[in-house]
Amino acid sequence: MTVTDLVDKLTLERDLDDGGLESILNCNEPEELEHLYSSARDVSIRHHGNTVHLRALVEWSNVCRNDCLYCGIRCGNASLSRYTLSTDEILDACSRAYALGLRTFVLQGGENPAAAEILAPTVSLIKSFWSDAAVTLSLGELPFETYELLRNAGADRYLLRHETADKAHYAMLHPEGMALENRMDCLRSLKTLGYQVGTGMMVGSPFQSTRNLVADLRFIQELRPEMVGIGPFIPHKDTPLGTYPKGSAELTLKLYSIVRLMLPDANIPSTTALSVIEPEGRIKGILAGANVIMPNFSPLPHRADYAIYEGKASLSLEAEENQKQIEKELHNHGYLVGKDRGDYQEN
Ligand code: SAH
Repeated sequence: MTVTDLVDKLTLERDLDDGGLESILNCNEPEELEHLYSSARDVSIRHHGNTVHLRALVEWSNVCRNDCLYCGIRCGNASLSRYTLSTDEILDACSRAYALGLRTFVLQGGENPAAAEILAPTVSLIKSFWSDAAVTLSLGELPFETYELLRNAGADRYLLRHETADKAHYAMLHPEGMALENRMDCLRSLKTLGYQVGTGMMVGSPFQSTRNLVADLRFIQELRPEMVGIGPFIPHKDTPLGTYPKGSAELTLKLYSIVRLMLPDANIPSTTALSVIEPEGRIKGILAGANVIMPNFSPLPHRADYAIYEGKASLSLEAEENQKQIEKELHNHGYLVGKDRGDYQEN
């Protein structure tokens, strides 16, 4: 079977055997890749319309108890000044996002056992001020009770990438004491609590094989998350994996398309990491089947300190300026910006 045939089969059946997936992931033929991207784009438009939803990313804190070997805000990185946004700073960021029409606020940060204590009251306030907006959290692995408190405070969604579905590979990227099974338990807890759940992985993380990526896709198929976040690995010099090469933009795009064809209704962001390594990466992601963009609404003075990877801060534009650029880019390609929360829906 040619890659074009494989893509058609995946489009029709929403599934493909491992060999077929590997062939698509290894394909370098521009015409066949264009067929992959356009098939995924068509499915995205069929299920989500020509609408792209924007989610306001608010990086609430870079304080982290974990020491993930790839991540710039790992606790072992001493060359970083640590901050936690105040409730007022968070509300101010949400208010700017709301004024620009965004209806999802994503609070992301390092892993902090005090997250519920600090954030649950803020989440309640956000929901009382902007009742037609959704709150997404991305705060790492926390106890069930913490997830429950935050859910009861009004949080709607939770992003927790599994990072890699291969146990041995997971151990190469994380310190002793962190385990894939814990992360998967967290994902299951989040589902039980009724969160819309997002998972995903880095592309081209050190030691990753094509087979690992197929295992990631299988894990995603099994979990059936409402959101799938996939971005290229980008080295950060102050981390143990800082000398490894960055991931491939093309491989990232292929994965957006494959996930779109497997899970037509999923919300898939065209990630910031992709736009850091690839000119026009943001729109290329949408044209390969993604349907979400997450503009940064964190206060400018703190952005450099939320350097999970390098090159991120150079994208720092004031929210309003950034918004104009995104809207223009989308309009130029025939897309509109979603005006509602953009919840997961089965179509
Ligand atoms: N503490 C939260 C949020 C982590 S940052 C959590 O544990 O989920 C969000 C995502 O950034 C991570 O899930 C990881 O996939 C990605 N990330 C971290 N370091 C990265 C790097 N060097 N290159 C690319 N992506 C990275």
